[in-house]
Amino acid sequence: SNDYRVVVFGAGGVGKSSLVLRFIRGTFRETYIPTIEDTYRQVISCNKNICTLQITDTTGSHQFPAMQRLSITKGHAFILVYSVCSKQSLEELRPIWQNIKDLKGPDVVNIPVMLVGNKNDESTELREVTQAEGQAQATAWGISFMETSAKTNHNVTELFQELLNMEKSR
Ligand code: GDP
Ligand code: MG
Repeated sequence: SNDYRVVVFGAGGVGKSSLVLRFIRGTFRETYIPTIEDTYRQVISCNKNICTLQITDTTGSHQFPAMQRLSITKGHAFILVYSVCSKQSLEELRPIWQNIKDLKGPDVVNIPVMLVGNKNDESTELREVTQAEGQAQATAWGISFMETSAKTNHNVTELFQELLNMEKSR
C-alpha cells in the first residue's frame, strides 16, 4: 500500500496536537484544546511514487486500550512525545512503548520510532528532563531521539523527515 501511517502518542498536554498542526498547517496556538483523535493526510513523494502520509494524533494516555491496540497494529511508525518540563510525561510513555513491543513482536526493530522531548524552548528553571536523560532513555529502548519545539518550530520538519528517511532506509 502507498499509505504511510504515523501515530503520535504521549500524555495530555505535551504538545502532540501542536507538533502535528505545526507540521501540517504551519500554525501554533497557546491554548490547550484536548483532542479526541484526529487523522491528517498529506500527499508526499516517496521512492519516485506518490504516497499518502497519514498522521494520527491520539488523545494521549487516556486512550481506550482497544483503540490504542488498533492504532499500534495499523501504525507503520511511531512518535512518542513527552514534555521536557515533565518527568512524569516521560514515565507515561513506558507502558505505551511496552505495548508497541508486545504488539509488533520481533518486527519492532524494523519500525521507525522516535522519542521526542517537546517544549525545548521553555526556560531552564522549568525543565525536568535534560537532553542527555532523554537521549539515554531512547538509547535504552533502542529507538531514535530528538528535542523539538512546536512553539518556535524547532526540529518539527526534521522530525517527520527523519521518520520518512528511517522508513526508506530499511
Ligand atoms: P497535546 O495534549 O499533547 O495534544 O498537547 P497540545 O498540543 O494541545 O499542547 C498543550 C499545551 O502546550 C498548549 O497550551 C500548547 O500551546 C503548549 N505547547 C505545545 N507545544 C509547545 C512547545 O513546543 N513549547 C511551549 N512552550 N508550549 C507548547
Ligand atoms: Mg491533543
